[in-house]
Amino acid sequence: MSFQYTEEQIKLKMRVRKFAEEKLAPIAPEVDTTADISWEVVRLLAEEGLCRFVVPEAYGGVGIAPPNLAIIREELSRVCIQADDTFIMSAMGGLPIILFGNEEQKRKYLPRVAKGEIIGSYSLTEAGSGSDVANIQATAVPDGDAYILNGHKYYASNGGGAEMCSVFAKTDPSQGGRGITAFVIDAKTPQPGLKVKLMNLVAAHPGYEIIFENYRVPKQNVVGEPGKGMRVAMTTLDVCRCSVGAATVGIAQAAFEEAMKFAQQRQAFGRSIAEFQGIQFKLADMAMNIQAARLLVSQCAEMTDIAHPERTIGRASMAKLFSTEMASRVVDEAVQILGGSGLIEGCKIDRLYRAVRAPRIYEGTSEIQRITISRSLMKGEIGQ
Ligand SMILES: Cc1cc2nc3c(=O)[nH]c(=O)nc-3n(C[C@H](O)[C@H](O)[C@H](O)COP(=O)(O)OP(=O)(O)OC[C@H]3O[C@@H](n4cnc5c(N)ncnc54)[C@H](O)[C@@H]3O)c2cc1C
Repeated sequence: MSFQYTEEQIKLKMRVRKFAEEKLAPIAPEVDTTADISWEVVRLLAEEGLCRFVVPEAYGGVGIAPPNLAIIREELSRVCIQADDTFIMSAMGGLPIILFGNEEQKRKYLPRVAKGEIIGSYSLTEAGSGSDVANIQATAVPDGDAYILNGHKYYASNGGGAEMCSVFAKTDPSQGGRGITAFVIDAKTPQPGLKVKLMNLVAAHPGYEIIFENYRVPKQNVVGEPGKGMRVAMTTLDVCRCSVGAATVGIAQAAFEEAMKFAQQRQAFGRSIAEFQGIQFKLADMAMNIQAARLLVSQCAEMTDIAHPERTIGRASMAKLFSTEMASRVVDEAVQILGGSGLIEGCKIDRLYRAVRAPRIYEGTSEIQRITISRSLMKGEIGQ
């Protein structure tokens, strides 16, 4: 097994780094402190051709390769959290169609995503059910050539601006998780029966409530088979989980770089604080943990087959759990190294400090990842 990037991967990493530093860095202080969707970020991602990395070649993309997702997410989140969110939400909104949708749906949505004309979202969570997915209460009742949706979704990242929003609702509530069906909807309002509301979260994140009140969805918008939506929802998460780890490696890397720079400049007791061993040891631990997480993510990404992401589910949980928890510790240490300067509202470390908390919760909390890892261990899928 190789532990090095290929030449192509290095090229991609350098390309995204250059793009992020030249185009995203100037706008990051504003977009990463503004909760709503940044259409300027969407435009820049499209212009750079990055939207094509979440779409198969047959529909105008370059194909979805988990190692590329990891590389792109690390480099985007290192500079601009919102760019990373926007990039991956189009993957999460589109994967249900890519993996389970019909040809008509693929032709309708995917070429537009590749060009950055539309963005994606994924709406599963509700106020009363996050980890316990089978307990969602949204319903979809057949009515002629349509379904009537009722329900209240929470935290749908980029939800309010997504013309390709994957939504999950129960078509047979008596069947629990087996009664869930996946739909693709246009969540842009105004539309009869649809309301969206931006949520107020600790980090400036475009999380939306989506409220359906007798909202009519044509039957042709069912993604996959009716009643098989749980598999659609879980497979999408299984593909993307490892890349959450990559995004937090990027956040941790950014925090480390801020701390390193500060430590070399800041004078205390007649020398730079980087000369104190107490600070050097912190920096050494931060760098080591970031690299360990990056390797775990890279290995999992290399092994992930998007047609069968369930085969690497335990590894993906390890990559996500380790990286997200590592990043929280690294960002916290970076604040410590910056002292009071790390707590000034709106500064880079402040933005990272706010952003790093949510990934331990979304796409499966740390506790749920531990459950998945334990199950994989019991089945002998990982552990050696
Ligand atoms: C910034 C952000 C963005 C998000 N984006 C999206 C999105 O785009 N689309 C979407 O659908 N959702 C999204 N979510 C929702 C997210 O996926 C859920 O918040 C997450 O799954 C946890 O669900 P919950 O908040 O309902 O917590 P709960 O599931 O109620 O969990 C509460 C606590 O109980 C623990 N717990 C639950 N079950 C167990 C168990 N069996 N064993 C041990 N502990 C357990 C959890 O780990 C947690 O600590 C987002 C959330 C955030 C914060």
